[in-house]
Amino acid sequence: MAQKAFASSADLDDKQQTLDVLADGVYALTAEGDPNVGAVEGEDFLVCFEALATPVAARAWLDRLREHTDKPVKYLVLSHYHAVRVLGASAFDAQVVVAHDNTRALIAERGQQDWQSEYARMPRLFKEPDSIPGLTWPDATFSDRFAIDLGGDRGELVLQYCGRGHTDGDVVAWLPRRKILFAGDLVESRAALYTGDAFHREWATSTLDRVAAFGAETLVGGRGAVARGQDAVAAAIGQTRHFLRVMLREVGAVHERGGTLKEAFEAARAALVDRYGGWPIFEHCLPFDVSRLWDELSGVERPVIWTVQRDREVWARLQD
Ligand SMILES: [Zn+2]
Repeated sequence: MAQKAFASSADLDDKQQTLDVLADGVYALTAEGDPNVGAVEGEDFLVCFEALATPVAARAWLDRLREHTDKPVKYLVLSHYHAVRVLGASAFDAQVVVAHDNTRALIAERGQQDWQSEYARMPRLFKEPDSIPGLTWPDATFSDRFAIDLGGDRGELVLQYCGRGHTDGDVVAWLPRRKILFAGDLVESRAALYTGDAFHREWATSTLDRVAAFGAETLVGGRGAVARGQDAVAAAIGQTRHFLRVMLREVGAVHERGGTLKEAFEAARAALVDRYGGWPIFEHCLPFDVSRLWDELSGVERPVIWTVQRDREVWARLQD
């Protein structure tokens, strides 16, 4: 069998970006499985959700957004610490960069390694990597809930922590008046899950329960198309939960019987590939996903830091 190219390093074709106006003053940019971003208009300011991988990549999004509004960016919300979601932050000139307390701690602890790791895994997303001025530091952090008054009769945008999931610092942005949820990487819509820094058991249960409890009618996930309507929202959450449950079942069974990580990888892949094998980043993510779940089942509480070297070792062990 031909050797598989490392992670997404051979995925060099630009993806089509689509700007959706979800409601008056509510925007999402999706890109065929590349990371999504969003924006919500306040009375005289903007809240942007997620920052893309570099300032140059972010500027292309802001140029699209500027066709609709010229309001200044007051808040830039980081859904979690991953490099492809945060390193474009400087392009926004935001007054306040907001994130969860744990996201700030993770950036301090492992932001540098994560930057190098993600750059090697997904080089195409790092448009003009030299435009990144350094790590992104939140100005304001919170532990549970952070409400932004949008002014006028626009209501609030609520940033909410739903428990540990894709990382231990994911937040979602909820617009109650429109029933629109920006879910970050806690929910993917027809894209594979990256769980290399995850807490699978909580994510698959209490955390997704809390995400579902918003009763969103429109959901923007971390990757993939916008889910429109309650059925599509339920399907996106359901897919995310199913992916996690299959991993827990398959990797759990091999772990339980004293098998090897490689056997767990093969079992998980076999159980997932028919349904998810054609979705973006499936082969890229799976070795890292299974490796983290194996650790989690072995009692490793916090995800081990991914480095360029560790990425290559795990890839060689499982995917080559
Ligand atoms: Zn992520």
